[in-house]
Amino acid sequence: MKSLWRLVLFVLLSIMLGQGVWIYYMYESYKQEFVWTIENSLANAVYMEISGRNEQLGGVISFAPYDVQDTSRYIRKKITSADTVFWVNIDRYDKYSTLKLAQFLIKDLLPIDIAKLDTLFRQEIGNSRYQIGNTYVEYIDLKDNRIIRSDKPKSLSGSYVSTREIPIDINNSQGVRAYAEVPSNAILRDMTIQLILSGSLILITLCCIFYLFYIISEQKKIEKMRQSSVNAMTHEFKRPISVAVTLANLIPIYKKDKNKTDRYSKNICQELNKLTSYTEQIQQISKSEKAELQLNKSEVNIRDFFSALKTKYTGTENDKADLQILLEVKRKSFYIDPVHFANVMDNLVENAIKYSEGKANVTVHVFERKGRLLISVKDKGVGMSWIDKNHIFERYYRSNHKEVQQKPGFGLGLTYVKLIVKGHDGTIRVKSRLGEGSKFIIEIPWTAYVET
Ligand code: ADP
Repeated sequence: MKSLWRLVLFVLLSIMLGQGVWIYYMYESYKQEFVWTIENSLANAVYMEISGRNEQLGGVISFAPYDVQDTSRYIRKKITSADTVFWVNIDRYDKYSTLKLAQFLIKDLLPIDIAKLDTLFRQEIGNSRYQIGNTYVEYIDLKDNRIIRSDKPKSLSGSYVSTREIPIDINNSQGVRAYAEVPSNAILRDMTIQLILSGSLILITLCCIFYLFYIISEQKKIEKMRQSSVNAMTHEFKRPISVAVTLANLIPIYKKDKNKTDRYSKNICQELNKLTSYTEQIQQISKSEKAELQLNKSEVNIRDFFSALKTKYTGTENDKADLQILLEVKRKSFYIDPVHFANVMDNLVENAIKYSEGKANVTVHVFERKGRLLISVKDKGVGMSWIDKNHIFERYYRSNHKEVQQKPGFGLGLTYVKLIVKGHDGTIRVKSRLGEGSKFIIEIPWTAYVET
């Protein structure tokens, strides 16, 4: 069991770890997408900032369009600045080439405005699907990675990502870099489905594991109950045999005393009947497992059936119980298996006696309701708890209460009772309160048998 726990724990941790790593990389990839967005935003902002400055200077720079015929990497470009016209070589694959050129031309006339750049940068982010958090921009010396100017606030909170540097100088010596607060909430919102899937997977795994342990612990419980039931059974089987053997040995000794020998023979019969009834119960329960339960139903006189029950529990040996039988039925007979149904009644009455302190007060009430036959067996004994009520019909179940544990029994009687009642298309239920007694109610239909 310990190694199973370890294995389950290992599986659970692996799944959780796997999910954690998956979620982490997903978050990182969403973050990377945000970085690309802000890099684009910064590039656009730089264009706008430089164009703004150019306009401020009266549009001093104008660029002639590329010569489409020219396919070489370095393109010769004509630049007109104020009253000067000159030619420069521009790298076709450097997307910032025009920018750098412009900055080179106007930086001495009007230097870069970092605050303006940051505002434009924020505007650009605002055009994307992300919400704008805190941002700042740095103007840096790319050669020695020194910050020349920045609008970084004094105190910062949250986590930030930065763009790559955008060189804005013709000889790549200066550039800008922007920082933006990671929009964690927006990213997590984007990941909702993945988070739900991951959470569900963990939840389902947890449920499966708990279910597995529930089943294992139930099986262990049943196994424990079965073990103690087998012990009790051995004890219960031995008792009638040893009583019968002792009494049988006494008969030759007292053979002249007819009264005694009669009583001993009757007691031997009673003990052996008990043994037969136990064996039958176990046989029927094991047959029910194989769905082989066979009942020999026949028409039985109700009055005779319950008189026999009364006789069984009246007499000097049975003065442990005060058994009352109330017969309130109009019909004379019912359609049952007399042997098994007698065992059912015996079980209920014997339990009522067994689980009562002192002389048991047991009432068997037989009556009709809505075309069905009802038989209740009521006692004023120890009763049972709500938990016990839900389990007593389970195989091997015995209450943990001291009063029950002190009494002999192997927890199969009520399983057998329920099985036989079911075989008569009936139901059995129990009403009970701890310390106040119990009432078992059997309800069976009059079935196919029609009284003539
Ligand atoms: P056993 O009597 O051999 O233990 P049963 O299947 O007949 O097995 O009964 C199962 C359990 O139901 C008993 O152990 C006891 O806890 C409870 N029980 C049955 N009948 C009564 C009763 N009349 N009063 C109180 N508890 C009862």
